[in-house]
Amino acid sequence: MLNRVAARLERFEFSQIRMGVDTPIIVYAPSESQAIEACRAAYSRISQLEQQMSDYRLDSELNAVCKEAVGRWRRVSRELFYVLWRAHRLAQQTDGAFDPTVGVLVRLWREARRTERLPDPQTLQEARARAGYRLMELCPRRRAVRLRAEGMQLDLGGIAKGYACDHALRVLRRYGLTRALIQMGGDIVAGDPPPDAPAWRIALAEGGETTLVRGALSTSGSTEQFVEIGGVRYAHIIDPRTGLGLTKLILARVRARDGITADSLATAAAVLGAAGIPRLQRLYKGVQIEVREG
Ligand code: ADP
Ligand code: MG
Repeated sequence: MLNRVAARLERFEFSQIRMGVDTPIIVYAPSESQAIEACRAAYSRISQLEQQMSDYRLDSELNAVCKEAVGRWRRVSRELFYVLWRAHRLAQQTDGAFDPTVGVLVRLWREARRTERLPDPQTLQEARARAGYRLMELCPRRRAVRLRAEGMQLDLGGIAKGYACDHALRVLRRYGLTRALIQMGGDIVAGDPPPDAPAWRIALAEGGETTLVRGALSTSGSTEQFVEIGGVRYAHIIDPRTGLGLTKLILARVRARDGITADSLATAAAVLGAAGIPRLQRLYKGVQIEVREG
């Protein structure tokens, strides 16, 4: 019988842009060619998911659904259905604080950022009539979606990056590379730790660092992306109660077993604030939520 010698692992780091953000992957592999092959497959998996879930891409599956599911059932891919289903469930659980149907309001926010003017009340009111998770119906049996209002825009910006990291990690594992870390903006998913360490070390935006191993860490809040109008800062996360961006200063951080949970709960916690933590923690056992306000 052959004696198997444990292969020496080397560290490789790649970075590409996916879903509009820097997406570094760090991986330990026995050779550069193995690292490249596996990471290429991981990035290509993220691209596929982007094609399914992006609201920026005109030809995404998500945008096709917005056009074709008004008033009638439209069958969707397994991945898109799962993410819509998780998003819808979280919307129900948070009374719409997290809401994957805020797309038209997000578009108004982007316009406000460009023009540095808030939408006029009439425009805002019309947009609000086209948002609300109750306007989105899901049928698991048919794996289909139906929208109840014309001109709705679905938006998975608060959940899809975490999900994409989960899948990228899975792809790397399939290539035999379990010691890996993937980051998409504020969402990080880690597998096994580096060979010489008990965990991955993660630098925090506000200074200091933390560790992560076989799990996910997501940060969300109002401090990174915002537009200032009339002395008020409106963040890129919509407060569904006003239809406008969050105006409070808040940073939410969630640790969970997987990226889809961490990402979506971090966005939800940013909207709900510290007062929403106990409820989220009751619903999602084992997650850790930290919120800093003010
Ligand atoms: P990041 O943009 O840094 O990934 P988040 O994960 O918090 O941060 O996602 C914010 C994105 O989620 C917004 O850009 C928008 O696409 C979407 N979004 C905005 N408001 C909400 C909301 N109340 N519920 C769900 N998704 C939202
Ligand atoms: Mg999020």
